Amino acid sequence: MRTNIENCKVCGEPIFYKEGIYDVYPDCSCMIKERIRLKISKYKKLSIIDRDFGSNVFGKAQTVCSKENDFIEKFKKYSERFKKALESNIGILMSGLPGTGKTFYANCIANEIQSKGYTVLSFNLSGYLRKIQEDYSNKRDFVSEEEKLLQAVKEVDLLVIDDLGSEKLSDWGMEKVYNLIDERYKANKPIIITTNLDKDGLEEHLMLNGSDKLLDRIRAITTPFIFDWDSRRKRKETDIWD
Ligand SMILES: [Zn+2]
Repeated sequence: MRTNIENCKVCGEPIFYKEGIYDVYPDCSCMIKERIRLKISKYKKLSIIDRDFGSNVFGKAQTVCSKENDFIEKFKKYSERFKKALESNIGILMSGLPGTGKTFYANCIANEIQSKGYTVLSFNLSGYLRKIQEDYSNKRDFVSEEEKLLQAVKEVDLLVIDDLGSEKLSDWGMEKVYNLIDERYKANKPIIITTNLDKDGLEEHLMLNGSDKLLDRIRAITTPFIFDWDSRRKRKETDIWD
């Protein structure tokens, strides 16, 4: 026997009722929404790159070829079916020359799924390494920045690593990058990676102690998209030098 005692003043759903002898305090839609909002903003704060919510949306895409149109359709589908991607750990590896739109599309997907209540963390590796290195030299907190970020990496619905390969990796950096990707791999949750490197370049960049285990892991959990058209950042025509 259930008796409603109190309803939310905003959405009208019960927030306190009695079920027999038990007091029950369920969450109403407002509370659930608020919890999601707080969760999203937590990961937004931990993100190292800004995803530019206003302009990085599918509606603003300007495509240069039919292959890019195909990619957009796939990326939209991915965003729509993100629940499935999350359940079966389907990620994306976008590679191609600078200026072909990789970061833009990674951000579009991130922004799209975030608007549906999923959490997203966006990193570039040089920023990530700088952040944990600064922390190592300061040593203020009991929990290190790296631990904090790795915890978030484990929890977040989508991890975006932008521009993999642009960073210079020392042995220390390589180990940290390995830990980061390995943590995500073990969490069995999707990752989107963008890179200017091609297959061989990536292999060379991610080689650790003579092993390409890291790239193997990335390949196992991502579907490749090769952006093989020209950069849209064309040099301006000018007669100034004539
Ligand atoms: Zn409510």
